[in-house]
Amino acid sequence: MRTLIRDVRVFDGERTIPRTNVLVEDDLIAEYDGRRVDVEIDGTGRTVLPGLIDAHTHVSDGMLAQALAFGVTTELDMFCLPSNLARQRRLAAERDDVADLRSAGVLATAPNGHPSQIMAAEAAAVAHLGDAVGPFDTIADAGQAKAFVEARLAEGIDYLKIVVDDGSAAGLDLPVLGPDVVAALVEAGHAAGLATIAHVATVRDATVAIEAGVDGLAHVVHDAPPGDPAVEKLAAQAAARGVFVVSTLSYIEAITGGTGGAELVRDERVASRLPEHARAAVRDDPGAVPVHPQGVVNAAHAALALHRAGVPLLAGTDANFFTPLHGASMHRELPLLIEACLTPEEALATATSVPARHFGLHDRGRIAPGMRADLLLVDGDPTRDITATRAIAAVWRRGVRQSRG
Ligand SMILES: [Zn+2]
Repeated sequence: MRTLIRDVRVFDGERTIPRTNVLVEDDLIAEYDGRRVDVEIDGTGRTVLPGLIDAHTHVSDGMLAQALAFGVTTELDMFCLPSNLARQRRLAAERDDVADLRSAGVLATAPNGHPSQIMAAEAAAVAHLGDAVGPFDTIADAGQAKAFVEARLAEGIDYLKIVVDDGSAAGLDLPVLGPDVVAALVEAGHAAGLATIAHVATVRDATVAIEAGVDGLAHVVHDAPPGDPAVEKLAAQAAARGVFVVSTLSYIEAITGGTGGAELVRDERVASRLPEHARAAVRDDPGAVPVHPQGVVNAAHAALALHRAGVPLLAGTDANFFTPLHGASMHRELPLLIEACLTPEEALATATSVPARHFGLHDRGRIAPGMRADLLLVDGDPTRDITATRAIAAVWRRGVRQSRG
């Protein structure tokens, strides 16, 4: 099967080609040799991008399908219980109408540490989540790090997620892993060949994680006000250590009670693809944690400081059972990244080539011959108006065009 997208603008994951042809041959992108094709699509006035990669999500039933409908062809899950993970992974392997998945599986946190309080709230609120919520393994001291990592490897994780968060940014006082435990987990993870990603909320926690040697942070910090020299210092430290940071600005916007996220579901291009319960989730989220409204401003400035210091930013939404929304919220994250600091092309790279590089996904994230045909075709030019990513004309996963264009 050969499909040609003719005369289309291409954002290839790194740069823009104003007008060219893109050939999809079976499950791969191929060089166009001028030979006959089975299907031809007029790309005039349209832009084709690599399928988007959301570098921070939490999967549950139905969500990989919703993600794909919005052009998110790969989700990097950051906490998922074993039976749920096994089911979602099977789905992603067997079917082409859901997004692909990588996962941290069960994250490493102290007994009753974050996110136990959210899990409890959500389990009580929504019984139908089944095995997406429930009790999970925790870690109490550094001596358990190796066994903890081995148990996760047996569950088939792709990277290790470590929580360094005492809840203080949310006005809570939660048990938290000590720096020695974090360091032991990073060491055990690296020894097993796993990348290590830390959940942090504050500058202090981020510093602990970076000093322990993590490869990435799962959120930008949001406790320090704009201009705080501590953020500049953190950014310089992250840059020097080659640490990447996942943005999750839409999550921070949601948990700080920001109303900006409502803009997304008022956009008909987004709303028309969402089930009613997902639109309602933006309004009432039982898992929401109270955070100071200044958090989203702090987060945007932290993203700016990180970007200026040369720290790679990866677009991530923290899509979960409620809000942010799988798939849809990526189309909010990108405008927020641009408001904070990035050009549209830089923002698009944070959702394509940059996460592919940092998570070792060498078969995707770019448009080039031999790459997986995970593609998003949109009307208009998102390299000028980022919201054009919402004007979805077609989505391909592994070369399979989705029925809903
Ligand atoms: Zn998360």
